[in-house]
Amino acid sequence: MFDCRQVLAELSNYVDDEVTLELRHAIEEHLARCGRCSVVYDTTRRTLKIVSGSLPPGAPLAVSERLHVRLRQLFAGGA
Ligand SMILES: [Zn+2]
Repeated sequence: MFDCRQVLAELSNYVDDEVTLELRHAIEEHLARCGRCSVVYDTTRRTLKIVSGSLPPGAPLAVSERLHVRLRQLFAGGA
């Protein structure tokens, strides 16, 4: 069974669809039960969507760097 730490560690891979089917099911099962992780998942997904949808090619690197810092804070704080 996955705990929050494991889910959060895999969350960015999960959002990017870079996890095995087994892992995906385990994460989905956890997200369905765990309000805290599902909030982090929601935030991460929305943030990535905004970034990939609105940043023009060649956008300042600092923007995505800031995002990564923010995501790391989220993961560190949620675990
Ligand atoms: Zn959790």
